[in-house]
Amino acid sequence: MNRGHVPQRTCRGCGRKGPRAGLLRFVVIGGRLVEDQQGGMPGKGVYCCDQDVCRERLAKSKKVLKAD
Ligand SMILES: [Zn+2]
Repeated sequence: MNRGHVPQRTCRGCGRKGPRAGLLRFVVIGGRLVEDQQGGMPGKGVYCCDQDVCRERLAKSKKVLKAD
């Protein structure tokens, strides 16, 4: 088994990179961030650590919403 390349995602709260499985996924819908609990929601994904500090930073990040 070649483990090869593991996709990395960047937390928009703190900038830390990690495997997608270790991060929460949010999708911008109608100008709001909605947590994608199933991992299958269409749209632009935004990733964030599963930590309150990062979630709060993400929630306050207006740039994330404008990127939609
Ligand atoms: Zn983070």
